[in-house]
Amino acid sequence: MAGLDAPLRPVVGAIAAVLGDKLGLHTVGDLVRHYPRRWDKRGELTDFRDLIPGEYATIFAVISRVTSKNIVTKTNKRLNKTDVTVTDGTRKLVLTFFNQRVWQQNRFPEGAAAFFSGKVELFNGKLQLVNPEVDIVDDDDVVGRSDFAGGILAVYPGVKDADTVKIRRCMRLVLDTLDLPEDPVPQAIRDKLGFIGYREALEGIHRPKTFDERDRARDRLAWDEAFILQIVLAQRRVAAAGLPATARRPVNDGLLAAFDARLPFELTNGQRSIGDLIAKEVAADHPMHRLLQGEVGSGKTVIALRAMLAVIDAGGQAALLAPTEVLAQQHLRSITDMLGDLALGGQLGGAENATTVTLLTGSLSQAARRKAMLNAASGAAGIVIGTHALLEEKVQFADLGLVVVDEQHKFGVEQRDALRAKARDDRRPHVLVMTATPIPRTVAMTVYGDLDVSTLEELPKGRAPITTAVAPLAGKPEWAERVWQRVRDEVAAGHQAYVVCPRIGGDEPDEPDDSGEELRPDDTETDTLDFGATEGSRGGTGSRPAAPPTLPPIGVLELGPQLADGYLSNLRVEILHGRMPSEAKDATMRAFVDGAVDVLVATTVIEVGVDVANATIMVIMDAERFGVSQLHQLRGRVGRGSAASRCLLVTELPPGHPGRARLDAVAATSDGFELSELDLTLRREGTILGTDQHGRSDLKLLSLVRDRDLIGSAREQATRIVDGDPGLLDHPPLAAAVNRLVANEDADFLEKA
Ligand code: ADP
Ligand code: MG
Repeated sequence: MAGLDAPLRPVVGAIAAVLGDKLGLHTVGDLVRHYPRRWDKRGELTDFRDLIPGEYATIFAVISRVTSKNIVTKTNKRLNKTDVTVTDGTRKLVLTFFNQRVWQQNRFPEGAAAFFSGKVELFNGKLQLVNPEVDIVDDDDVVGRSDFAGGILAVYPGVKDADTVKIRRCMRLVLDTLDLPEDPVPQAIRDKLGFIGYREALEGIHRPKTFDERDRARDRLAWDEAFILQIVLAQRRVAAAGLPATARRPVNDGLLAAFDARLPFELTNGQRSIGDLIAKEVAADHPMHRLLQGEVGSGKTVIALRAMLAVIDAGGQAALLAPTEVLAQQHLRSITDMLGDLALGGQLGGAENATTVTLLTGSLSQAARRKAMLNAASGAAGIVIGTHALLEEKVQFADLGLVVVDEQHKFGVEQRDALRAKARDDRRPHVLVMTATPIPRTVAMTVYGDLDVSTLEELPKGRAPITTAVAPLAGKPEWAERVWQRVRDEVAAGHQAYVVCPRIGGDEPDEPDDSGEELRPDDTETDTLDFGATEGSRGGTGSRPAAPPTLPPIGVLELGPQLADGYLSNLRVEILHGRMPSEAKDATMRAFVDGAVDVLVATTVIEVGVDVANATIMVIMDAERFGVSQLHQLRGRVGRGSAASRCLLVTELPPGHPGRARLDAVAATSDGFELSELDLTLRREGTILGTDQHGRSDLKLLSLVRDRDLIGSAREQATRIVDGDPGLLDHPPLAAAVNRLVANEDADFLEKA
């Protein structure tokens, strides 16, 4: 008998080395959590649509044709090449054997069925297996195997030397000797929700007798994943809520009151109520830990600024962390503008209780940086706005009371923590993280599950809607003229335009602009480019998308001059990208804000936060290169004023291409939440929940798309348990299951996404 933590070798023998090295399966527990990729019914052929290039697969197929010939290679070698065409009843697949003398044509008569194992490759657009292993078993033999006893056969993701047949054998050995601890999910919960027991679930997933049995097993095991995850998150919330923070109590006649009195607009209801909630939370002596999400342009910055002012009024400082230099500068500008003389602390003309706003970024001169750091450390600066430079250890604050993280999805948890560690006396600052990328509910409950969430639903009044259209250039070159005519029209009407390119261009390799020197590579965004991967593709065609059919995507450095000399020759065209020196970036941005530039040709450096109300049109080149959420984010740069705005998604993809469908979806709705759900269905979920070095996600069965209700129920149960028993002292089997997850260090991935 072997427990979940027992090593595999004594149970399965020498193959344990392959399982460990190639599949990352080291313990009995690892193996039983290596779930089948699909389940075949006895006698049913493998559906070739499920084959994934690059994967090692075992297929059960019927031989339809065998041909053999001698060929001479380029290097003048003589080879025998045998092609065996097999079929799943609908599609064909060629198995190619080179120099296999053992091959005997008559051993595989046409019409016979057999197992073939090998690496699936794509050759000339067709799937093939080269030199597969052949496992001819007649049906009696198969039926005789206990694997097939129930008539359903689990098919596992495998590798060479540990294919599905071998893994199934190991699984049998393990399941037959498995010594399971007490079920981690308390009996009361199982009864209430109607779940089967853990052992039954393992049997049902690996050796189901009916598909119904398999489904019940899957439900239970997927729920377990959500449940244990939610336990970890609930524990984290409880732990964070118990930490000490300095209470920042409101004052009546401080900066906040002065600021409110001069606000040029009325706060929306959402801004007001979330503001009240935040004021209450920062006035408590435990840290606030809140996520504020809201559409682009919904006015999150004002909420954050009011929170900062409340903290300054109470004697603390606030730090605002932005993902890019452009955005940090933009925040500095708009915050100092909004504050007016309230930001002129210690300066001539400053209001009586005025504070100081300081910028701290990596590209400051030595002297400027030293001065900024001094302002932060002395407490002279009430607000310090910066990029990753803020996180450095030598940056210190006199009394950091509030950390605001803008565009949270660009940062990892380590960064949040680095700032949090800068409060005084072992206290924690209050934390407000903001994102304009709407987070689907399930993601909010998992990836951001340790934060309390507020959502800003309404936009400020008087915003004109943004019209989005796809501009297909494939076979329609005249569209190009129409696109640029639109831009000329907008400029003629006194407005400004953005043109966004997927890359910087020039002689640099084909890479997207990660928007500046300080933005760390963002896995999430890059992955959205991978639009071939769909949720349904876990067992399906997960092939990479075909590259757009024509030229490589256009770069800013090419398109800028082209437009300036061509279609837009009478307009003031400037470029902006992350490789420009930061003074140049700032100067260009300033010129655009001041209306001295008509058309800004830029990379995604303008993706977040840039706010120029007079910009009314955005043209996105090679739009299929961007993810759904990113497109939505980008177009939020227009439609910020009262004039009607327009976004054109230029693409060379032909109609019917899956990439086109995404663009059509973005054009069809301006509801960010709807799009974020769509984005989720289009993305491999592992990219959201994180994967370890073996490419495994720790959440194997849980689907953020399908399992929304299940995650909700798991969260409810987990919260109840942890509220009553934070240390899980009364729930030892559950504590053990949680430890197993946390000990794997895999828990970190939850927040790195
Ligand atoms: P985001 O949520 O995208 O960060 P911002 O905070 O940048 O949005 O706000 C977008 C614009 O709307 C800013 O110019 C801001 O001054 C303005 N704004 C914010 N709140 C209101 C409001 N209640 N009424 C009118 N305009 C507002
Ligand atoms: Mg913003």
